[in-house]
Amino acid sequence: MRRTPIRMCVACRKRRPKGELLRFLLTADGFRIDPTGKLPGRGAYVCPDRPECWQEKKLRRFAGSRARALAEALAALLGGRDGQNTHLPAG
Ligand SMILES: [Zn+2]
Repeated sequence: MRRTPIRMCVACRKRRPKGELLRFLLTADGFRIDPTGKLPGRGAYVCPDRPECWQEKKLRRFAGSRARALAEALAALLGGRDGQNTHLPAG
C-alpha cells in the first residue's frame, strides 16, 4: 500500500490523511471546490465533517475576501443544517 499523504485543514490546522479532507483551490477570481482532489493549482483542505471548519471567520485567515463565498459553498455542498453531517459521498 502507498503511504497516505497528510494534509492540514486551513481552518482548524489539524493534520489528517488527505482522503479525509475536502480539497479546494484558490483561483484568480475566487475558488473552486475540488472533491476529486485532482485539479491542478494551489490546493487547500478543510475538514468536511467539522462544520466549524466551514465558517467564514475560520476561513478568512486563509482565503481572505473569498472566505464568505467559500464558507457558503462548503455549507451548501456539505450540508450546513445543524452540523450533523458526516462524510462526503465517496469520489
Ligand atoms: Zn478542520
